[in-house]
Amino acid sequence: MTLTIRNASKTYPDGTRALLPTDLTVGQGEILSLLGPSGCGKTTLLRIIAGLETPDAGTEVRFDEEDVTRLAVEHRNVGMVFQSYALFPNMSVRANIGYGLKVRKVPKAEREQRVDEVLALCRLGDYAERAVTALSGGQRQRVALARAMAPRPRILLLDEPLSALDAALRDSLRDELAAMLRQFRITAVFVTHDQAEALAIADRIAVMSHGQMQQVGPPEELYRTPASSFVARFIGNAMPLPGSIVDGHLILHGGHLPLPAAAAGVEVFVRAEDVHLDDAGPLSGTVETVAFSGGHYRIGIAGITGETLFATHPGRQAPRPGDSVRVRIDADDLLVLPQDRS
Ligand code: ATP
Repeated sequence: MTLTIRNASKTYPDGTRALLPTDLTVGQGEILSLLGPSGCGKTTLLRIIAGLETPDAGTEVRFDEEDVTRLAVEHRNVGMVFQSYALFPNMSVRANIGYGLKVRKVPKAEREQRVDEVLALCRLGDYAERAVTALSGGQRQRVALARAMAPRPRILLLDEPLSALDAALRDSLRDELAAMLRQFRITAVFVTHDQAEALAIADRIAVMSHGQMQQVGPPEELYRTPASSFVARFIGNAMPLPGSIVDGHLILHGGHLPLPAAAAGVEVFVRAEDVHLDDAGPLSGTVETVAFSGGHYRIGIAGITGETLFATHPGRQAPRPGDSVRVRIDADDLLVLPQDRS
């Protein structure tokens, strides 16, 4: 199913403008992530798609050709997975998954068949008769997905489905969830505030801030060519390189950097992975902090930007706090963006 949203907006009764007029299309089988900081309006948009929230006049929501803008949630056939999973604790895995089908009065034989189907797809076959209270967090998450998918929804909506899990489990479940969603070939909209989750799971990401879409595109595109400083900071934690621009060079405290193109009215950013310790580099600074993080060191350097500039250092040896270092940033790795006037 293709989801088309036109001119969707929402003003709550207290006057809060949670969503400013927004257009969005999600293609058949596409997984779109709504990503943004708390309060940016992503849950509001998800609830409008679900039919749980009445949008402002002028909003149009279509499931394929059908205008569902005024259709109640129970008639939209959407599958939902929430942060809390909202499973029925006193029921078995099988009963949880079959619940939606029972409510819809699907005949028993067909019900059993569909439940078996999603049990297999979500690799829950061995747990079918268990109480959900006897499952791990990751298994419960799979039950929530299976329960949402059993009625064969037209679209699947997920609201922070991994945020109740601890960090290590979240990392491993991210890829698993992405694989399961693709296996179902379901059109899905996925709300998260976690950039790593959005990058790993989504076909396209819509970055939101203050009720507005900032940029919509595939993860690689948003990462490599962010359209604004907000997107650059939010995805990949780009750091500002504040300095004056003279003759195509950026003048920093610790030295000059050639810019990739002549530019005015721009801000320049760089990511830690593109800041290299290099004895022949044009910038000089002083090491403030050194943190080992397994595959690399994270080095905090003072004296280049006025703030701490972080470098991801892959070497087996790291400098020590207080050491003078030289730093190289390649022109191609600079993110040169229009000045943020907001
Ligand atoms: P979070 O990640 O914290 O859930 P979000 O990006 O999903 O945030 P929304 O929940 O959509 O954001 O909220 C957007 C804005 O609308 C916020 O400023 C929020 O306080 C406000 N808001 C949400 N629900 C209501 C409501 N029922 N009445 C008034 N304001 C609301």
